[in-house]
Amino acid sequence: MIAAGADVGGSRLVESRSPQAPGDLLVAVPAADRGDVHAAAERGRRAQRGWWDASAGQRAGALKQLSGALSDRAAEAADLVVREVGKPVVEARAEVARAISILDYYAQQSFAPVGAVMPASMPGRLWTERRPHGLAGLITPWNFPLAIPLWKSAPALAAGNGVLLKPSPESAACALWLGELVADALPDGLVQVLPGGADAGAAVVEVADVVSFTGSAAVGRQVAITATQGGTSVQAEMGGQNAAIVLPDADAAHAASLVAQASMGFAGQKCTATRRVVVVGPEARQREVRAALVAAVEAVAVGDPAAEGTAMGPVITEDARRRVAAAATMVRESGGQVLAGGDATDDDGWFLTPGLADGLGPDHILAQEELFGPFVLVQSATDVAEAVALAEGVRYGLVTSVHGRDAGQLLDVVASVGTGMVKVNAPTTGVDFYAPFGGERDSSYGQREQGAVALDFYSSSRTVTFAPHA
Ligand code: NAD
Repeated sequence: MIAAGADVGGSRLVESRSPQAPGDLLVAVPAADRGDVHAAAERGRRAQRGWWDASAGQRAGALKQLSGALSDRAAEAADLVVREVGKPVVEARAEVARAISILDYYAQQSFAPVGAVMPASMPGRLWTERRPHGLAGLITPWNFPLAIPLWKSAPALAAGNGVLLKPSPESAACALWLGELVADALPDGLVQVLPGGADAGAAVVEVADVVSFTGSAAVGRQVAITATQGGTSVQAEMGGQNAAIVLPDADAAHAASLVAQASMGFAGQKCTATRRVVVVGPEARQREVRAALVAAVEAVAVGDPAAEGTAMGPVITEDARRRVAAAATMVRESGGQVLAGGDATDDDGWFLTPGLADGLGPDHILAQEELFGPFVLVQSATDVAEAVALAEGVRYGLVTSVHGRDAGQLLDVVASVGTGMVKVNAPTTGVDFYAPFGGERDSSYGQREQGAVALDFYSSSRTVTFAPHA
């Protein structure tokens, strides 16, 4: 959280506080200014040359060493994630485990083929080879404060790049902690962490040779435009307004428990969280699924994120809590019904009760735009075609889940929705770390993240024609 009056766009302080105990200040550091970012880029370029001159085995070994260091300090890392962003401890541990797996995976990917040999049309040889861009500028959000910086850095490093990481102010402590861990395992200056806000982010876009952004749609669009205008390769992973479609033959209680998990886990602060539930069927079925949703949402364990049984802690800032509570008021004022929760609690931190709402038209702003909190809307459809049209009727296209038994109908929905990811009988949240990750329309720009394709994004391919001397 940025302190009142602190201007992280300039050269002032970046402060990060615990959302469950706002009096708990984790870090207060000066924001990097444009000059700092340019100096870091110069240093990073020197380090990158040595990194690329080193062997693939040395790069793999260094990434493996970093994975080992994170494993050794996994409990400390998870505690820091809980404290800084209020992520429930079970999920924080899972994030750290994922980060370790990502490092191991890309350590091995350092040995992946770097090109292809083709038959030459004349005597000689013809081949392609991947080469690093140089410096990767990574701009990250606060909600996966270790995993997202690492799922960008690890492929960038495996492909031979250096890294400038501009983390979100709300997760500055996690990023600086990671920076120290990296400094022990990797060459000096190869990965640099630059805390700050919009100005530091813009300066990183200015100096980087390749840019990877994750965050909101508004900022991502701006970053993509600026990078493209400067001729820099860019990818942007942004928001979602993800739907869960509940078909008539789905077990209502089971589907509702998956929706509750996907919409309320970590207080709905995942880009893949379920934001809308589209229930297919006649009146009686609509009532049955709504009752199951109310029961599942009310059963979500809200409380101290450090406690083992907690599924939902606080939201990230006071402002985020105000936005979610205002949404419940807006539902009532628009003629809709709040079926459960949606209220701020009296606790010290930024806690709310899980919110479930009904009765808004598909064009209502709450149906169209991402609230990024523990709040989910129910929508009704009489048949599958109407459900798909509702699910698809937003500007985002990140992920859809569909719940039911009939394989033919499930496959029809999979074929009909246009999101970058589809989950069948599974929560919208969570995608295996080695599978491509990304969306369509306003959810993503550029190439997918994760998996082997990430190495292509962080590389530039060149073609070599090699003819014998006359
Ligand atoms: P945000 O857009 O506010 O900030 C993201 C990052 O951009 C931060 O580091 C911020 O300091 C920086 N930034 C802000 N203005 C900038 C500018 N003008 N130029 C360059 N950098 C700038 O997002 P957030 O609130 O940190 O994260 C929440 C959002 O992230 C949600 O919309 C969520 O859906 C999205 N998200 C998407 C994914 C995905 O993979 N699709 C994953 C996680 C989060």
